[in-house]
Amino acid sequence: MGKTLFFNIPATGHINPSIGVVKELMQRGEQVLYVNTEDMRAQIESIGAAFIPYPDARVIGDIDGLMARASGGNIPQNALALHQIGAALLPFCLDLIDRERPDYVLVDSLAAWGKHAARLRGVKSISSISTFVLTPGSPLPLTPTLIAETVGQLIPTLPGFAGTWLQMKRRYGIHIGGPLGAVMSLADMNLVYTSREFQPAAETLDGTYRFVGASIAARPQSVEFPFDQLTRKPLIYISLGTINNQNLDFYRQCFAALGDYPAQVVLSAGKKTDLTVLEPIPANFLVRNFVPQLDILERADLFITHGGMNSVHEGLWYGVPMVVIPQQLEQSIVATRTAQMGAGIALATKPPIGQVSAAELRAAVETVFKDVENYRMAARGLGDSLRAAGGATQAAEAILAFAQAS
Ligand code: UDP
Repeated sequence: MGKTLFFNIPATGHINPSIGVVKELMQRGEQVLYVNTEDMRAQIESIGAAFIPYPDARVIGDIDGLMARASGGNIPQNALALHQIGAALLPFCLDLIDRERPDYVLVDSLAAWGKHAARLRGVKSISSISTFVLTPGSPLPLTPTLIAETVGQLIPTLPGFAGTWLQMKRRYGIHIGGPLGAVMSLADMNLVYTSREFQPAAETLDGTYRFVGASIAARPQSVEFPFDQLTRKPLIYISLGTINNQNLDFYRQCFAALGDYPAQVVLSAGKKTDLTVLEPIPANFLVRNFVPQLDILERADLFITHGGMNSVHEGLWYGVPMVVIPQQLEQSIVATRTAQMGAGIALATKPPIGQVSAAELRAAVETVFKDVENYRMAARGLGDSLRAAGGATQAAEAILAFAQAS
């Protein structure tokens, strides 16, 4: 029986794909100590893993503020915030490794601090990657506007990067890497929760990458939803995920685009969105703060999504055609790839990312429904590739084989 520490970040999209893997590891007798912020304790403990909280703000400063900054759309700022979190957390991670003596360490690709600590202590590390791997072949919308915008965002962060690099070099003798090292932290083995077929330019990635497909496990938490009110077909499901979801303008565009469309529409508007400000809500819409997404997708004919990796995988898993409207750069890659593979339509993938009119949205929905069988077939094909990659079982086997290899 082996022992592992799993360092993750407090984001649903990064925790969900790990749940099935952790369960599989525990079923094989592994002891999993899962590290995250205190608000994630219930979810982690409900799957039977031991939970270890990151130190609170009094110990390491404004981690929640940094986490919030790390999840905005500004990539240089996200990367700097993640490096700063890593610098604050490294002493804690090192102490934890010294105390628990894990056989190997699992780290989310945004939680580079776990990998740095593992390497400093000579422990094997495995990266848990819940997005596409960024490669030179990734379909980035490299327009002059985007390049200018990114350079403009990068310049003010440079003093912060320099300070963190120096601090980590002086204290620990390590180079923590540039912005990419924070947002796509690679380890000794890289577990990617998608299929080779869906990953752009997969042929450029070496044997350290293991594509294990999606791990879409039944969710531990139950969410109330009035399923008896789902009486009309087709069913359209709309969600912008759990982070950039307070986009009231977008929800109003959806009302304008689909309020008179002959379909029933479920809209998940985000836990922090005040639903009363969205009124009047069209009669064919059911709007909730949070919905049981997998159960809805099982019944849906079309998914209008922000292109979060989990949401798109879940859509493919159930063979649901998609209209993907990214809210940030990473999602723009997912949107473009989904469209390239024929499983849907991507809108507003270039700056200004995510800006769509009601007319564009309506036209995209009509285009998909006109040719729905082909879109569905492509979505199902990719869903099959995600299943065939083996999911959590394959992931656990790959982890154990790697951990046990000398
Ligand atoms: N989700 C859900 N109900 C909702 C909205 C989202 O269960 O009403 C889940 C969804 O199934 C997915 C996750 O939240 O697993 C969102 O992850 P994703 O990577 O798509 O987007 P993010 O929230 O990270 O932007």
